[in-house]
Amino acid sequence: MSGDNCFNILEKIFKAKNEQTIEEIKGYSIKYGHIIDSNNNIVDEVLVSYFKSPKSYTTENMCEINTHGGIIILRKILELCLKNGAELAEPGEFTKRAFLNGRIDLLQAESVIDIINAKSEKEAKTSINQLEGNLSKKIRQIKQKILDVMVNMEVAIDYPEYDVEDATNVQILDMLNRVENDLLKLEQSFDNGKMIKEGIKTAIIGKPNAGKSSLLNAILKEERAIVTDIEGTTRDTIEEFININGIPLNIIDTAGIRNTENEVEKIGVIKSKKIANEADLIIAIFDSSKELTEEDIEILNIIKDKKVIIVLNKIDLETKIDEKNIKLKEISKYIIKISAINEIGIDSLYDKISEMFNLNEINVDNEIVITNLRHKNLITKAIENVKQAKETLENNMPSDIIAIFIKDILQCLGEITGEEVTENIINEIFSKFCLGK
Ligand code: GDP
Repeated sequence: MSGDNCFNILEKIFKAKNEQTIEEIKGYSIKYGHIIDSNNNIVDEVLVSYFKSPKSYTTENMCEINTHGGIIILRKILELCLKNGAELAEPGEFTKRAFLNGRIDLLQAESVIDIINAKSEKEAKTSINQLEGNLSKKIRQIKQKILDVMVNMEVAIDYPEYDVEDATNVQILDMLNRVENDLLKLEQSFDNGKMIKEGIKTAIIGKPNAGKSSLLNAILKEERAIVTDIEGTTRDTIEEFININGIPLNIIDTAGIRNTENEVEKIGVIKSKKIANEADLIIAIFDSSKELTEEDIEILNIIKDKKVIIVLNKIDLETKIDEKNIKLKEISKYIIKISAINEIGIDSLYDKISEMFNLNEINVDNEIVITNLRHKNLITKAIENVKQAKETLENNMPSDIIAIFIKDILQCLGEITGEEVTENIINEIFSKFCLGK
C-alpha cells in the first residue's frame, strides 16, 4: 500500500507482536505479527515492511505485507485492505506515482517494465543502466547544450549594435553540430537496442524432411532452461526465444515448423517466402545426403537477398552436397555442417550467428543503448529540428525562426524524460505495466 492513509489502514488489520505506535516505528524496518479480520480472527502470520515518506519507492508512506502466499490468503488480505479504505492500484501505479512525485523520470519508469520483461542478460543490463539514470543524464547533457545555444542567441538579439551576430552564428552552428552528433549516436544505438530488446527474428526454412523440426528440437533441448513460449496475440503462431551471447533469438513460426502431421502445412516454397520477408536471419537447411532439387533452388532464390546461414544437415549420412557447392556459396559465406538428430554442429551455428551480428562486440556495460521505439522516434524528430535550425542559421534567417526549431528540440527531449509529456502518453506507458509494479 502506498499513500497518506496506508498506515491507518494497516493499523486496522495488522497486530504486531511487539506493539509500537507508528511514530515509534522507523522507516526501512520490518515488524512481525498477524493480519486479523474484523472479528479479530487471525488470517495469516506475516511480516510487514515500513517505508516512511519520502524514503520509499513512491516517495509516499508505504507498507508491504509479506504473507505465506497462495490465492485464498492473498485475496482475503487484499479484501481487508480494500474494506478498510484502500483502493486497488492500477497497473504500474506505484511506478507512476514514483514518476509523478518526481523520484524518477519517465525514462527510468519505463525501464522498470523492461527489466521485468527482459528475456536476455543484455536486455536486463541495458534496462538497469536506464533505471540508474545513464540515459537520462545523457539527455540532460544534450538539453543543457541546447540551452547554451539559446543563451548565445539571446545575446545576439539583445545587443544587435555590437555586431556580434556573425561570430555568434559560427558558435551556434558549432554547438548545434555537437548536439546533432550526440543525438545521431543515440539514434544509431537503436539498431543494437532493437536487437537486444526484440531479439533477432529468425526463420528456419527448407523443404519438407530437410530437418527443420529436428534442428529446432536440438536448439531447444540445449537451451531448454531459458526458452520462453509466447503465444502470438495477433496471429496463431508461437514464438520461441533462445539466448545467444545474451541476445535473444526469436524463432518465428515454430508452430509451422513443428507441424509434422500435416504434410501440406510443412514449410513449403510459398510459406517460406512469407516468413523470409519477416525475418532478420534465415537458417536455410538442406539435406546433404541428397542432391539439390528444384525446390531447394527455388528456396535459395527466395532468400538470396537476406542474411542467411546455410545449414547442411545429416552429415552422418553419405554426403551429396558440401560447402563447396557453388549455388550455396553464391547465397552466403556462412555454411555449416550439422547432424540435427545427433546434435552435432549446433555450437558452430551459434558461433556463426554471433559473428554475423557482431554479438560479441555489443557492449552494454559502458555504452548507452536506446531500446525503446518511443525514445528513438523522439530522437529522430529532434535531429530533424536540429537540421532545420542549422539550415535557417546558414540562410541567415531571423533568430526568432531558429528559436522555433530550438524550442521543438527541447520539446522532444522533454517528452523523452517526461517533463513535457501529455497525460495520455503517460497513461499509455503505464497501462503496459503489470499490477503491483
Ligand atoms: P522437417 O520436415 O524439415 O521438419 O524435417 P524433420 O526434422 O522432421 O526431419 C525429417 C527426417 O529426417 C526425420 O526422419 C528425421 O529423423 C531425419 N533427420 C533429421 N536430422 C537428421 C540427421 O542429422 N541425420 C539423419 N540421418 N536423419 C536426420
